Amino acid sequence: MTLHPMKTLMADAHAGGYAVPAFNCANLEMIQCVLRTAAELRAPVILGIHPVEIAYMGSASIAVAIARGVAEDLKVDFAIHQDHGDSVETCIRSIRGGFTSVMYDGSHLPIAQNAANAREVVKIAHACGVTVEGEVGTIGMTDEFGTKLENAHLCDPEMAVELADTGIDCLAVAIGNAHGFYTETPELRFDLVEEINKRVKIPLVLHGGTGIPRDQVQQAIRMGVAKMNVGTALRYAFVKAAADTIAAEVVKDLALMTIGTAGITAGADVVRDYMDICMCAGRSK
Ligand SMILES: [Zn+2]
Repeated sequence: MTLHPMKTLMADAHAGGYAVPAFNCANLEMIQCVLRTAAELRAPVILGIHPVEIAYMGSASIAVAIARGVAEDLKVDFAIHQDHGDSVETCIRSIRGGFTSVMYDGSHLPIAQNAANAREVVKIAHACGVTVEGEVGTIGMTDEFGTKLENAHLCDPEMAVELADTGIDCLAVAIGNAHGFYTETPELRFDLVEEINKRVKIPLVLHGGTGIPRDQVQQAIRMGVAKMNVGTALRYAFVKAAADTIAAEVVKDLALMTIGTAGITAGADVVRDYMDICMCAGRSK
């Protein structure tokens, strides 16, 4: 295994015309599913672990120990990334626990405060060789905003410049994407991506990857998106597999491992699909 700072994987993707998917993982089985499938496809991959998922696993160092343990005997290039940290302290805890990348999400704050906090995270993270992702615009939930986002939630290119100036390594942009299942087909605002690209030279990150049509994702990749986050699709596969397995009455045998294994199998199909959309299979060194 090779555990990389996330920016190394993203720089290769940016140069190679593909994106590295970041899959949200909340437990051992999800991490096994993602890392084993990535190794099988020789695809670089990012484990995206949200602070809520870190709390569920116990701590940042437990999440890192699980990931390192699973990867130990695999030939896989990966990064361990903290998704959506809403405070400097949260990011510091993840860095201390061994994450190789953190997202500082100050998008709910006025831009000056968002930038000031991002600058602090960058200083600490870069001293430790850890990558930093920032966010401008509000990438909300599909059920909160629908797919027709108001301009107020979209990424303002001027603010993108202000945040990029803090030294962050990559930027999550709100360009018509949202978290959760889309209720109608999203239409990414490529005009906005073009505006951002004129002013900001770091790789972009596309959140809310579940359900964005393949052609739009690949257009976004051609325009500088080097990482795409996928949470909902993998969670759904695991939960549905668990529900179906329970319905099949494994409960009476107390076959907990059967439920986990069904999730890993169902999840692997989702990971393969998004690897294909991101065009990253076979890109590992
Ligand atoms: Zn997100």
